[in-house]
This record gives sequence, C-alpha cells and structure tokens, in this order.
Amino acid sequence: MSDLAVNIQTPNGLTYSQPTGLFINNEWVPSSSGQKLPSINPATESVITSVHAATASDVDLAVSAAQAAFHSPTWQSIVGTARATLLNKLADLVEANQHILATIEAMDNGKPYLQARGDIEEVFSVLRYYAGWADKHYGQTMETTRAKFTYTVREPVGVCGQIIPWNYPLGMASWKLGPALACGNAIVIKAAEQTPLSILYFANLVRSAGFPPGVVNILNGHGGECGAALVQHPHIDKVAFTGSTATGKQIMKLASGTLKNLTLETGGKSPLVVFGDAQLANAVKWAHYGVMGNMGQICTATSRIFVHEGIYEAFVREFVAYVARISVVGDPFEEKTYHGPQVSRAQFEKILGYVEVAKKEGAKVILGGGVAAERPGGKGFFVSPTVVVDVTPEMTVYREEIFGPFAVIVKFSEEEEVVRMANDTEYGLAAALCTSDIARAHRVAGKLRAGMVWINSNNNSDFRVPFGGVKQSGIGRELGQAGLDAYSNIKAVHLNLNLVESL
Ligand code: ADP
Repeated sequence: MSDLAVNIQTPNGLTYSQPTGLFINNEWVPSSSGQKLPSINPATESVITSVHAATASDVDLAVSAAQAAFHSPTWQSIVGTARATLLNKLADLVEANQHILATIEAMDNGKPYLQARGDIEEVFSVLRYYAGWADKHYGQTMETTRAKFTYTVREPVGVCGQIIPWNYPLGMASWKLGPALACGNAIVIKAAEQTPLSILYFANLVRSAGFPPGVVNILNGHGGECGAALVQHPHIDKVAFTGSTATGKQIMKLASGTLKNLTLETGGKSPLVVFGDAQLANAVKWAHYGVMGNMGQICTATSRIFVHEGIYEAFVREFVAYVARISVVGDPFEEKTYHGPQVSRAQFEKILGYVEVAKKEGAKVILGGGVAAERPGGKGFFVSPTVVVDVTPEMTVYREEIFGPFAVIVKFSEEEEVVRMANDTEYGLAAALCTSDIARAHRVAGKLRAGMVWINSNNNSDFRVPFGGVKQSGIGRELGQAGLDAYSNIKAVHLNLNLVESL
C-alpha cells in the first residue's frame, strides 16, 4: 500500500524510503482506525512525515501475532546458539546502516548527528553482547536428597510488551530487545510519540536478519491508547517500560489487573558531589557531561551539583566557562554542534517554565535561562544551557526532574551533611562523586541511595553493567547479566529417582 512508506530527504542530503506503517508478523499494515501521528523535526519545527498510530485493536493483532510466534514450533526450535546467530546478523545490519539510522534519529529527535552515531554504535554493541549470552544463561542443579535429582531451567517469560522513550529511541529499544530475544521471548514494542521513525527503519532490518514472523512486532501510537492497551493486555506476560515516574506509576496500576512481571526505569534527580579534594578540571568535565549531554534529556542526569565550600567559587567559575565553551548550540548536522534542540515544544516550554519558577523562588540564573539566541534560522526548540545557583532544598528546581540542560549548584561544608542532602529526594537512580580520597569515595558510594554510583566520572554507563534505580526511580535492572533475569523465569524440576519408596 502506497502510504506505508514515503521517500524522505534528510537535512544532510540523503534520500531514503521511510516505512510509516505498523510492523506486525514481519509485514507492514495500516492502523485499523486510520489514525496517524506526525513526526516533527525539533530543529526546524516542520513535520517530517506522519506514521500510522496503533489503537487497541491493532495492539490485539500484534499481541496475537507475538503469541502465535512464541508458541510456534519454528521459534521454539530455535535454540540459544541459533538466536545468537540471528542477533549477530541484526547487529551487523545495524552497523552497516548506522549512517542512515543516526541521520533519522538526529532529524527526528534533534540530537547532534555525531551523538546519534554514538547511540547507534551502542545499539549494535548491545545486540552483540546479548547474542553472546543467548546460549549461556542456564539453570543449576542442587543437592536435595538421595532420592531426588533437582535442577532449574531458565525459560522465556513469553510475550513481552516494551514501551520506550524518546531520548535514546533505538538505544532504549536495544536494551529491551537484546535480552528479550536472547532469552527466546516474543515482543511487541512501542516507540514514543515524539520519535517514531528510526524503529520503523530498524524493523526492516529485523526481517532481513531472519527473525520469524511475529517474534518482533513494532508499533507507534499514543501512550494513553496504544501503550495502555499493551500494558493491560491479558496475553502480555511482561511489561518493560522506560519513561517518567508519573507514567511508570500509571503503568504499574494498569498492569495490576493481570499481575504482570514488570520492569520500570523511571525518573531521577541525581546528585553529583564534588568534594574539596577533587581534581577540579576532571570534576568540571564530568559535571558538564552529566547534565548537559543529550540536552539534559537523560534519566540519570546529575542535575543537582553539590560543591564543597572550599572550592565552590572556583568550581562555579570553571563550570560556567566550560559549559559556555563546550555546549556549542547549533544545527544538529553541523560537526561543531554539541547542543541541539529539546525534543518537542512541550519539553521546551516546560524547561523555560522552570527558569521562571527558579527566579520566583529566589534562585539566581548565572548562565542561559532562555531560548538559545544561536538557534539556526530563529526556529526550533533550543534552550540555552542553564546554570542556577543559590538553590536551597525547598525549591522546586532542587526537587523536580526537569529533563533539560539545567544544572543547579548547591554549596556544602560537611560529608555527613552532603550525603543527607544528596539522598533528600524521592528518586534514587544514579549518583556521582569526585574526590581524591579513595576511602571517602567508597564510604560515600555506600551511603548514597541510588542504583548506580560513578566515582571521578559521571554517566558513563556500560551495557555490560546493570542499570536501574531504587526508590521512585524504578524496579528491576536492565543491561549486563542482570538484564537477562528480567526476561526469563526459573522453573524448578524435581525428579524422583526412587519410584517405589516414598520420601
Ligand atoms: P514523557 O512524559 O517524557 O513523554 P512518558 O513517560 O509519558 O514520557 O512516555 C514514555 C513512553 O511511555 C512513551 O512511549 C509513551 O507513549 C508511553 N506512555 C505514556 N503514557 C502511557 C500509558 N498510560 N500507558 C502506557 N504507555 C504510556
């Protein structure tokens, strides 16, 4: 059907065929309602194209396809080593298509092309990593009595509903698809409304890699409609979600009707603690990366920076100078650009609103704090990298996740005090600290209530290492070996070796 793909010319001069349909059973189909979602280039505010948006009846079709595929003799006969071959083929195809995939993400999300290239590199690396695990995730034998042989096996959970955010569209998809496929599940995955395009291009690669029809189904659609239908569907065995804490809470409620296995990776208001003995240049560099990278649209953003009073003034001076120098605002396709637009008008306006709240509550904006004057053509959702000081713990910008290039800096004097302040949040996703004292580093890392702690660095996660939060930042872990646990159930088998005597 003609409107299931359109030719698109990208800002960097490529022309490609962009699928726009729903990917069910390895085929492109239109949404049953005819509903569409526009995709907007946040750097220009223009509509790139519109894609089909799934409603509850399309979700039904996709779940049925996944269910049939999961139980089919074909998928059941594909053992771990063969699943590894499929995942490796998919990784090779992503690598071969990295230029176009990164181009689509830069256009659709607004992130600088070079950063998008890094994201796509992570996608094929994650797929290869989990290909490696596909035949190495097994059970145990355990000694019980002489009359029994007892062992466990790892079984796939079944049909997984995966809901991904817009900040790293294919990156977040790979964190979910990799372990789910390695463990032998079938999938219905939903992209975020703001960034529907790259995963549709990726869908064709899934088919080319040789995955049987129905094993991976890919939908776009509204969260409240398509997402909610997926979460509530009685034949979805597991839901994996990355997004805001508010939506995570809703999903938990919706999933409770059918008591689903859940992993939730939600929001954060992560601290970075810079002690007086920190290496200043290193602390400044990582402080910038932790809150200004990806235009601050990072769930683990260290958006509260605590600095010891002994180096406070020097840190603030150096940090502001560093942000102004490195966060070059501009067209996402220009090589020198570090800082592109926010993903959407809603995010752009929300962040600008926080600037006003900060000022009203008595904080001081010392850098940025408005629409970026350098935005190309006077258009796009560009927010100036913003630094705010004189912030106290009661202030809104200390407490709420802003999800933008917005750093608040707070002064402290004692270790105990800063640990208390760092933990004074409903969130617990990540934390970072800079110090030259190794004993203090270990001590404080132990006291910070967070799923991840970086010492003398920040936000340099690694797909081989578990990722996830505590408190209101989520439930469960993705990545690393721990990521497999979310996608497999343990079955215990008790084999009676003595058919005559009772135990
Ligand atoms: P944001 O507020 O930054 O857009 P969300 O957490 O709302 O982030 O969105 C993350 C993902 O969750 C998106 O794919 C979105 O469509 C989806 N989503 C939003 N609301 C719901 C819901 N009620 N049920 C299921 N998925 C949802």
